[in-house]
Amino acid sequence: MPAIDGSRLIGDLRELAGFGRYRTGVHRPAFSDADLAARRWLVQRMADAGLDAAVDGIGNVIGRAAGDGPRLLVGSHSDTQPHGGWLDGAMGVVYGIELARAMRDDPACRGLGVDVASWQDEEGHYTSFLGSRSFAGLLAEDEIDRARHRDDGVPLREAIARAGLAGVPRARLDAARYRGYLEAHIEQGAVLESGRRRIGVVTAIVGIVVYRVTFAGDQNHAGTTPMRLRRDAGVALTAFCNEVHRELAELAGPATVWTIGRIVLTPNAPSVVPGRAELLLQIRDPSLAIMETLGAAAIRLAEAADRAGPCRVAIERASYTEPVAMDEPIAAAIEGAAARRAGRGWMRMPSGAGHDAQILARRMPAGMLFVPSIGGVSHHYTEDTAEDDIVLGCQVFADAAEAILRS
Ligand SMILES: [Zn+2]
Repeated sequence: MPAIDGSRLIGDLRELAGFGRYRTGVHRPAFSDADLAARRWLVQRMADAGLDAAVDGIGNVIGRAAGDGPRLLVGSHSDTQPHGGWLDGAMGVVYGIELARAMRDDPACRGLGVDVASWQDEEGHYTSFLGSRSFAGLLAEDEIDRARHRDDGVPLREAIARAGLAGVPRARLDAARYRGYLEAHIEQGAVLESGRRRIGVVTAIVGIVVYRVTFAGDQNHAGTTPMRLRRDAGVALTAFCNEVHRELAELAGPATVWTIGRIVLTPNAPSVVPGRAELLLQIRDPSLAIMETLGAAAIRLAEAADRAGPCRVAIERASYTEPVAMDEPIAAAIEGAAARRAGRGWMRMPSGAGHDAQILARRMPAGMLFVPSIGGVSHHYTEDTAEDDIVLGCQVFADAAEAILRS
């Protein structure tokens, strides 16, 4: 079994967190100066681990093991959310580098090998899953032409040129080279911690559907318009919210989550009856069948509200990604390694967040493992995981990788 060096692993994670440090976390959005400096550091670390490493034309760092394979592709992302945490993404990349070193140092692993990737812009500052989609052949040139930074509007082409990557080829997946893709990540929730488990074996990555529901009434004076004469879009919206929460709770599966995270009243003033209202309803679930049932329920409720009046109610699907199942033999390999290293301290679970693994899963068998997040906190600079859990997770990751390569 490749033996992980815990202090070497933690040391590299702490050093990587120095690029874009913000309080106890990291501010390292894709193509920022800190992100590009971190990528140059990763190339050096991968080279030191015996990999042939480079940054490709979309900003991915990819380190290739010598020889033809079969190989295992491992990695995650090193870009972060604004003022994000030090482990979200970074941990999975450094696990890959530590695994490459551990395999190199173990004579019993001769002939085995992993390619390590840090995918660019997983967090979607320009477009979601930019780097992994590019590698998987799911990103067209004209999408790169159109993409702009979501805050400052800088074209992606300009960011690529500024990084010195204009004209550099984009790395492309050679599926025949790989047994599969393995990604480790912090859980970013509190399921493991609250269940006192140290390893999560990911069974599926949830699908996400967002519905936009609009309510059209009559805007008027809040003092002179009697209640019986009103068509108040805000009243229609709040009634719909209550109906949705009641109905979805009846139909939900064990892992279903839904959120009304955005509400807009127009004109949103205390002395004006709202003439228009809009909400965004997001539903996540690992099961396609459950997502379809819940989506149909939301549509049914909106249509019933429209028929009942007095406001007009319209619903449309604003965005959708399908749930993605993880590969069962890979999940079983992670489970076997977790049982050996952590006894009963593991569990199977879906991922409630999106990850690059859902992109790679469209091209080859893919699997993920989670380690606990303290207090379930992520996308925040206070995000953290106990060092013991980080080290244990890496050893389970290494054991699972070896088992997959020998299968
Ligand atoms: Zn992440």
